[in-house]
Amino acid sequence: MSIQTEVLVIGGGATGAGIARDLAMRGLDVVVAERGGLASGTSGRSHGLLHSGARYAPADELGAEECIRENRILRDIAGHCIRDTGGFFVQLPEDDPEFFDEKLAACEGIGIEVEVLEDETARAEVPGLAPDAERVMKVPDGVVYPSRLVAANAASATDHGAEILTHAPVTDIRVEDGRATGATLGGDVDEDVEAEYVVNAAGTWAGECAALAGVGLEMRPTKGVMVSVDYPGLGPVLNRCRPPADGDIIVPHETQAVLGTTSIEVGDPDEFDEEHWEVQKMVEECAKMLPDVATSEILRTWWGVRPLYAPDEADRETMDGGEGDARGISRGFFLLDHDAEGAENFASIVGGKLTTYRMMAEATADHVCEAFGVDEPCRTAEENLPGVDDERRLDEFVAEYDARSPTDEDVLTAD
Ligand SMILES: Cc1cc2nc3c(=O)[nH]c(=O)nc-3n(C[C@H](O)[C@H](O)[C@H](O)COP(=O)(O)OP(=O)(O)OC[C@H]3O[C@@H](n4cnc5c(N)ncnc54)[C@H](O)[C@@H]3O)c2cc1C
Repeated sequence: MSIQTEVLVIGGGATGAGIARDLAMRGLDVVVAERGGLASGTSGRSHGLLHSGARYAPADELGAEECIRENRILRDIAGHCIRDTGGFFVQLPEDDPEFFDEKLAACEGIGIEVEVLEDETARAEVPGLAPDAERVMKVPDGVVYPSRLVAANAASATDHGAEILTHAPVTDIRVEDGRATGATLGGDVDEDVEAEYVVNAAGTWAGECAALAGVGLEMRPTKGVMVSVDYPGLGPVLNRCRPPADGDIIVPHETQAVLGTTSIEVGDPDEFDEEHWEVQKMVEECAKMLPDVATSEILRTWWGVRPLYAPDEADRETMDGGEGDARGISRGFFLLDHDAEGAENFASIVGGKLTTYRMMAEATADHVCEAFGVDEPCRTAEENLPGVDDERRLDEFVAEYDARSPTDEDVLTAD
């Protein structure tokens, strides 16, 4: 017997779980197939910064606007999946003061709440701040706990009738008479799914997934390292106020500080070298903002791989003079309908950020609903995720969907 559904979503990261929630809330029948536990891809291996958009202003106004809009929505609906810490942008002596002024003006223009702090106010909030820090502006950055966020989206989807299958890798996608009709699942499930619509939300693995349906989709995965050190009580996120580069963000957890990150192209998102120099560089760079991290004990290191869409990256290289490292530009998302490539009712959603997962899910769900003639509006920005007032309940969801991941494993309550 095969599993029957209206929509099969491949991938149980933030995007896939968000799509399942959105579609199920609009009344569609949804199955999610995730090859590992939920959030076991990039979502659970990110830096966990809830962007305010200040990082992308002024280079990318649209990306910054998307971030601040979604940041505000998540503060409303996501409770203990996020932490409202605020963030600093710190100018050091070697940083261009004009960059600080431009960022400040761009944030004000976009409507991102920003304040230049008096030196003593900044040092009262972050006593360990580098003595030579010259200027600090405060923005509404925060921290996101992806294991909880993804699991809460899955729990909401389940409440609305969706089925979430973990350890269920998609090994084949069927296309019959130019139309996607289902997929084969291996792993613990080992069954066929018959679906009227297939959504590829496999992140950095989206190219491999599309190939299962005979569709070409080129991704350009880049790895980044995170280094978590023993550092209790850091208040805000610390960002270096310079054009984005290696080791310019410190994300506070309750007793740890997470240093990151790098951006290095890899051939295979499942097979790449985890290099010691990356770890050392994070400590060296981040210690320029917070000197004590140089001697703090390293407790955990992990790597994540960005789901970058290759044609977009090629455009960025052209735009930034061929340097090929356009981290200053936000990672916008792409919704690709594969109808023209001979696979009707098959779409892929790639790129984006953890911060903008809900918006990506909404765009995808709008597209799928159009195919089904469903005109229910999206409600994911208004309705709270389940369990958000109760950390234990959230962590039960994490256990239920096997969503415990490196980014926030120090924060989750024990199994
Ligand atoms: C180093 C790094 C730091 C980052 N930091 C931040 C940050 O601080 N803030 C921010 O907003 N964003 C950040 N990002 C970006 C963000 O993490 C990603 O854009 C986002 O998490 C992608 O989510 P996703 O659901 O699209 O992909 P994923 O989370 O990767 O989900 C795709 C899922 O598909 C599954 N899958 C793959 N193949 C199959 C198959 N054949 N069958 C079934 N399932 C399959 C995978 O196991 C995976 O779980 C960072 C990214 C990296 C790499």
